[in-house]
Amino acid sequence: ETTQLKDIVAHAKEYGFVFQSSEIYDGLAAVYDYGPNGVELKNNLKRLWWETMTQLHHDVVGIDAAIFMAPQTWKASGHIDGFNDPMIDNLDSKKRYRADVLLEEKAAEYENAGDPARGAALTAEMGRLLTAEDLAGVRQLIIDEKIQCPVSKTGNWTEVRQFNLMFSTQGSAVDSDAPPVYLRPETAQGIFVNFLNVQKSARMKIPFGIAQIGKAFRNEIVARQFIFRMREFEQMEMQFFVRPGTEGEWYDTWKAARRKFHEAIGLPAEKLRFHDHDKLAHYAKAAVDIEYEFPFGFKEIEGIHSRSDFDLTQHQNLSRKKQQYFDNDVDPATGKPYGNYVPYVVETSVGADRLFLATMCNAFTEETITEGEGDAQQTKTRTFLKLHPAVAPVKAAIFPLVRKDGMPEKAQEIFDALRFDFRLVLEERDAIGKRYTRQDLIGTPFCIVVDGQTLEDDTVTVRHRDSREQTRMPISELRSYIGEAVSF
Ligand code: ATP
Repeated sequence: ETTQLKDIVAHAKEYGFVFQSSEIYDGLAAVYDYGPNGVELKNNLKRLWWETMTQLHHDVVGIDAAIFMAPQTWKASGHIDGFNDPMIDNLDSKKRYRADVLLEEKAAEYENAGDPARGAALTAEMGRLLTAEDLAGVRQLIIDEKIQCPVSKTGNWTEVRQFNLMFSTQGSAVDSDAPPVYLRPETAQGIFVNFLNVQKSARMKIPFGIAQIGKAFRNEIVARQFIFRMREFEQMEMQFFVRPGTEGEWYDTWKAARRKFHEAIGLPAEKLRFHDHDKLAHYAKAAVDIEYEFPFGFKEIEGIHSRSDFDLTQHQNLSRKKQQYFDNDVDPATGKPYGNYVPYVVETSVGADRLFLATMCNAFTEETITEGEGDAQQTKTRTFLKLHPAVAPVKAAIFPLVRKDGMPEKAQEIFDALRFDFRLVLEERDAIGKRYTRQDLIGTPFCIVVDGQTLEDDTVTVRHRDSREQTRMPISELRSYIGEAVSF
């Protein structure tokens, strides 16, 4: 039986991973809060990304730019004029849809019905019309394909309009004529406007990258699929500045490096694929998505974009501040330094929330197990999260087998010795089986049990989440054992 998104949503709520925002007021569409286990998992994902970028790559440094930026930023970046989604309304249901999403779903329908060629042709035609900004053509395609409103089952569509996805708010408390400020729709621009600050202050030489993790905001028309598409979300972006002409190699290098990252944190290779863009964003020369196979199909988790010198040139033109780099490496073709140029950029951009959802979907496991022997034998379903130990919210749980004979004190001793290295829980209450189950549900890789033998020889049992096997181990080996498992 395949896992449904609704099972994951329910699990995420029940075990403190993700809550609907302001739930007591019936929530706010496409906005979510992370609970006690969710924030740990998400922080682990962010930390691994950050360390991969700024520690494993010697040529990448980080920044933390503000969410608010000068309004001209978004003029230069093209977001004021071009950051739109094609919107269409159904006249009967008065529901609003993204025209491209309706067509994508139709294409997927053809694919599922065994006609991938027809699906691909539809996707290509949609891409062509959108690139040409032929909105009437997009509407006609929806009508020709006999696409019906998912709610009212009619094909009674309005015209297609462009809808800008940026949220804006009042920019100045004193000047009512001041232009609005926007909540940034991507973190990338905070990196571009700081390009020279970072290059000079950190004495970086091209090629080098700037990494950032931060909130981004988009007024998404279609808000569905849980935390896949949110109005407030978090991005982990890295802009890699290169000499023009070398962007192709760097694009390939980062494509491979980013796929490796997803595999290293536990996403299986067969559930990941590259997907080239049919329609390029206004800034892109080449773009590929890394897609993960969610319960609702293969969908983007990360974008890798070759952005040329688009952004820096735009900022140079609008700000009238040079965004150039002097490259004193010698060009073998001329025998002279490469000199001044506006660098090209290869970007990697992954959503922390989408990566979280992919991680949860991948980890959620239901298996049938048999317990007991003879007449007492019974089968039941065990639910657990098969998280990579590096991202698990709790690395180990420590249980005294019973609450007497000095076992709780010994468990406390082990807890105190390891708490500086790992996030642990110590639990004394309930039967041991129940305590295992609780840890399985949140993905804790190890349960350490203090029993009678522990008091005699300083060994404990370590119960493994995925296999449910138990091994006996000296207490003195726990730190290196857990440490090895949670390293990445
Ligand atoms: P989509 O086509 O799904 O709208 P996009 O191509 O607009 O995404 P990018 O602008 O490339 O997305 O953003 C980079 C990454 O940011 C995406 O791969 C995704 O992980 C994340 N992201 C973008 N929009 C959202 C959102 N509304 N909610 C959660 N994550 C998002």
